[in-house]
Amino acid sequence: WAKAQGRGRWAVYDPERSARDIARSGRLAGLPLALDRGEFVLHYQPIVSLLDGRMLAVEALVRWQHPQLGLIGPDRFIGLAEETGLIVRLGEWVLRQACRDARGWHTEFPDARLVVSVNLAARQADAPAIVDTVADTLASSGLPAELLQLELTESAVMGSAEEPLRTLHRLAGLGVRLAIDDFGTGYSNLAYLRRLPITCLKLAAPFVEGIRGDEPDAADHRDERIVDALVRLAHALELWVTAEGVETEAQAERLRALRCDTAQGRLFGPPEPADAIRTRLAGG
Ligand code: C2E
Ligand code: MG
Ligand code: MG
Ligand code: MG
Repeated sequence: WAKAQGRGRWAVYDPERSARDIARSGRLAGLPLALDRGEFVLHYQPIVSLLDGRMLAVEALVRWQHPQLGLIGPDRFIGLAEETGLIVRLGEWVLRQACRDARGWHTEFPDARLVVSVNLAARQADAPAIVDTVADTLASSGLPAELLQLELTESAVMGSAEEPLRTLHRLAGLGVRLAIDDFGTGYSNLAYLRRLPITCLKLAAPFVEGIRGDEPDAADHRDERIVDALVRLAHALELWVTAEGVETEAQAERLRALRCDTAQGRLFGPPEPADAIRTRLAGG
């Protein structure tokens, strides 16, 4: 209804609408050029074993180092990048940079076998060309395929179409790992899930947030039972589980009791620049 309201000078405040307006009116207008200007950076967040705390993987999370606005998080520009189609080139850049960084860590610390996990937008995962892109990136970076994990959302892979399924099987055929991101927040087709060549389910942060471990109120128990059920489902399908958004030791304790394998969140470390990951690997 923005159009019907004319220029919207008198419109009530609507955060979603204002985000779009800000983008249109120019504050994020530099987005298409940001890639050529080298303004994107990757931060990496540890994914650790809940058994012994060892860092098994890191998730690559993109940020935009805006010359005036400072560091901008992906929630503020990924949507716009998807709308404008920039996501394909941006996604290729993320993949290349992440594989290059991971290859560097692997060369210096081969025993760590550190996996790098890269988010793929639905639009990237849909395009059959993604298979060549991933194969070329692995070849040019020299990163072993099994040290790359690709994160896809339920909506990107749960369709009934055969084409995306073929693409996923070809990706898996390269030897990379495939994870479903934010599992439990989208629409999952369980019959379809068992046909997917995936290796890991990432449980969405809201479920983990509901596990407080301290006050046993009803809401608490429901989220805990959902996590319990999802961990059992994943294990029945021989998949790893990563709990996202783990913030407290109490949550980690409950997740461990529920047999969740791996976790990610502020408790174990925030997303940090590549150097900080190197320092962790060096044992500092
Ligand atoms: P995601 O893939 O689910 O990433 C996890 C998000 O949880 C990250 O937000 C991370 O900073 C945040 N997080 C970390 N620790 C905690 C915690 O203890 N509690 C809670 N509640 N959250 C925590 P971030 O970096 O803002 O990224 C947001 C989303 O942007 C990502 O969600 C992903 O969907 C998207 N994204 C990020 N990088 C890329 C990318 O390179 N390509 C694509 N297509 N999407 C990306
Ligand atoms: Mg992710
Ligand atoms: Mg996630
Ligand atoms: Mg997300």
